[in-house]
Amino acid sequence: MFSQRFAWCSLLAVLALTSLASADDKIRVLIIDGQNNHNWKAMTPPMKADLEQTGRFTVDVATTPEQKAPAADWDAFRPDFSKYDVVLSNYNGQSWPAEVNKSLEQFVEKGGGLVIIHAANNAFSDWKAWNEMIGLGWRGPDFGDRVTVNDKGEAERTEKGKGPGAGHGAQHEFVIITRDREHPVTRGMPAEWKHARDELYHGQRGPAANMHILATAFSDPKTGGTGANEPMIWWIPYGKGRVFTTLMGHVGGPDDPSIRCTGFLTVMERGCEWAATGKVTLPIKSDFPTAEEVRVVPSQPKT
Ligand code: ZN
Repeated sequence: MFSQRFAWCSLLAVLALTSLASADDKIRVLIIDGQNNHNWKAMTPPMKADLEQTGRFTVDVATTPEQKAPAADWDAFRPDFSKYDVVLSNYNGQSWPAEVNKSLEQFVEKGGGLVIIHAANNAFSDWKAWNEMIGLGWRGPDFGDRVTVNDKGEAERTEKGKGPGAGHGAQHEFVIITRDREHPVTRGMPAEWKHARDELYHGQRGPAANMHILATAFSDPKTGGTGANEPMIWWIPYGKGRVFTTLMGHVGGPDDPSIRCTGFLTVMERGCEWAATGKVTLPIKSDFPTAEEVRVVPSQPKT
């Protein structure tokens, strides 16, 4: 009896130490929101909850002042990026104070991760370093080059001024084509998988330097698209840091399914882990979409 109890106590002690260690090892995520032409209030809580339920992350949220807020509110908006391993932007709104921009640039230059979700790439067209970090953004055709992928799987550039600028056709379910099946984020994903109803962005523009495309989608003219394979997931190195973008994730209302897609959620989780650490330990979700079938979680996990 004594030895059994002793063993049980030892086990508890080991478990306690293990949980302490894993708390220290958790990746610290900062989500930024507060302005968006999308329903950011319906996006941040389920994205935060999904990241947290993996057990791999702790997640804080920094919400900016509203549009037309007094200058004093912006003076108080000074997120301390150095406390985090990765910043996830769910923000598309007015410019931040120059001091905040500089602080984010330095954070990524020193090795911090940055993750861009959907319309977050619409923001900050006049922030030079931001455009370098994201590579391509929602911009007009004269802003910069466009990048597509041809039928041989090769990236092709269209110079600025030629071809379409940023846009999207009708919302629909579409197939994501995994172009890099060796990258830690996409390794193990099927070659093709069907994403839940979303906007398929096309004609994104920017400097697109050192852009590594991980996945594309065919932008079908039948749904108002360009007839090209448009980049959907990519990453760009910036200083010692990694900037990871997914164009998926349109949410206009709480019923929009894009961020409940198990493919989107896997990309977000692994993208955050990889941008923060350069490695991926998180598995692909077991109910991952197939080429023919969309898979969504029925409701967002609660924190
Ligand atoms: Zn959208």
